[in-house]
Amino acid sequence: MTTVTEVLVGRDLSKAYGNRFTARTVQALDGVSFELREGEICGLVGPNGAGKSTLIKLIMGIEPKDGGEVSMNGLDPRMALGYVPERPTFFEDLSPFHNMLYIARLNNIPEPEEACLRELKEFGLDGWKDEPVVNFSKGMKQRLAIARSVLHGPKALIMDEPFSGLDPGMMLELRGIMRSLKNRGIAMLLSSHELNEIDQLCDSILFIKSGRIIKKEEFNAIVPTVNFRIMLATADGAVPAALAGRKVLSQSPDGLSFLVETPKEEVPDIVAEVVGVGGRIVACGIAQRKAEDLYAEVFLPEARA
Ligand code: ADP
Repeated sequence: MTTVTEVLVGRDLSKAYGNRFTARTVQALDGVSFELREGEICGLVGPNGAGKSTLIKLIMGIEPKDGGEVSMNGLDPRMALGYVPERPTFFEDLSPFHNMLYIARLNNIPEPEEACLRELKEFGLDGWKDEPVVNFSKGMKQRLAIARSVLHGPKALIMDEPFSGLDPGMMLELRGIMRSLKNRGIAMLLSSHELNEIDQLCDSILFIKSGRIIKKEEFNAIVPTVNFRIMLATADGAVPAALAGRKVLSQSPDGLSFLVETPKEEVPDIVAEVVGVGGRIVACGIAQRKAEDLYAEVFLPEARA
């Protein structure tokens, strides 16, 4: 039996900000709870003002919380968390090696030189280790920021808008880096508006609105049913009749495409039934729900109301 290890847990996190000009209080975070497993990549998604930055600040201890707690399996979050800000800053006149060494020494990392060289190599920066950071591209600075954030061997990384301002090549590169961090067992919580990247990378999404988690979607969760799509070469009246006992979610007006909600184990029976009545299938498969669909489901009805 495999055991699931939760590496980062937040419970009932709350934060209100007062505005001394209007004397009003904004409840930026209102009892937020979440859990991240070892190696889980979780997207934190929500409209502007939803509370994403506040949640990150509370997890990282950058802002004091009004209530709630952050725990890491008995470890001290200050030691077991890494942070990659949206706009990382460096000592621009120094080399990446010396930028890293500064952090390594601040954190009392054993054999700091070796640790820095190891991470610079891991992130493909060893060939640039003596170049001043001021000459680095945005993508290289991003890699350096991540290398720096994992120097002390964190169990979880918090990343604020990691894809913002990256070109498609850099996005691909970052995806590869995040997968390799996942393989090291590091859990990642990343706030992002890039729903396509969330689709490519994330195991789960936390949807946040008005300071509350309103939904957690688990892509790899064992769900009892799947949405199965069948596309026919030619419309055939016998097919809808064959599917009459099934839960057909939608049928295209031309009669060529059907979306059926079904227990996964009954998918082969559905294919056999359609073929059995003469249906000529050109394509079929389980329709994955995408982050964009989920975003629309979660946020747009209220936006339109
Ligand atoms: P997001 O990162 O999702 O855009 P934030 O966490 O920045 O959202 O903000 C959540 C709410 O808290 C917003 O209403 C914002 O105006 C308010 N807020 C955030 N930081 C402060 C602050 N330092 N002072 C007052 N209000 C704040």
